[in-house]
Amino acid sequence: MLLKAYAIMDEGVKKDIEKYEKSGKKLACRRGCSCCCKTHRDIPVYPIEIVGIYWYVIEKTKEPIRTKIKSSLILHKKDEPCPFLIDNVCSIYPMRPLACRQFNVFGKPCAEGEDAFYTRPHDVLNPTEHYLARALYETVPFYNIYDEDEKIEFINSGKLNSLVRILQRYPWIELARRISSLNIY
Ligand code: SF4
Ligand code: SF4
Repeated sequence: MLLKAYAIMDEGVKKDIEKYEKSGKKLACRRGCSCCCKTHRDIPVYPIEIVGIYWYVIEKTKEPIRTKIKSSLILHKKDEPCPFLIDNVCSIYPMRPLACRQFNVFGKPCAEGEDAFYTRPHDVLNPTEHYLARALYETVPFYNIYDEDEKIEFINSGKLNSLVRILQRYPWIELARRISSLNIY
C-alpha cells in the first residue's frame, strides 16, 4: 500500500517538475543538499509511514548506516532536525514521507537555515493535490477501512489527517531499541 502510494506521489512530482522545467525553471535539489532537512521542524508523517520507516530501517538498512541511525535516534531530542539525516544524506530515502517527497525547490539550493517556502515561495514546487489525494487513498485500507465511500469520507472529513504525527517529535527511541535487539542476536 505504502509503496504504491509513494509511486503515485513520485510520478506526480516528476510530472510537476517537468512542467516547471519546461517553463525554464531548473530543479536545485540534489543528493547531499540537505538544508531543508535541518530547517524544517514539523514534517507530518502518517501512521502507515511510521510503520514503513520501521520496516525499512530494520529490514533494509545495512551496517554501518544502521548503527548510525540508532545513535542518531538515541541522541535525538524533540524538535531537533530530522534524526534520519545522516552525513547530510537521507538514510531512509526510499521511505521518506510524502511531505519530504513533495518539497522541491528550483533555481538555487536553499541556504543554511533558509526555508524557501517563506523566503522565495515562487521557487517552491506547488504539487498537484490530485496526486496526494490518490496516494493517501491507497493507504486507507491500512486503517481497516475498505468500503469505497467510507475511504473517501475518511480522507475528506479530516479523520486521516487527525492521525498525523510530527516526525521530529515522534518517540523514535523504540526504533533504536529494536535496532539494538537486532545487533544482539
Ligand atoms: S529543498 Fe532546498 S535544501 Fe532541500 S534538496 Fe532542495 S534545494 Fe536542497
Ligand atoms: S526523512 Fe529524509 S528527506 Fe525527510 S527530513 Fe528526514 S532526512 Fe530529510
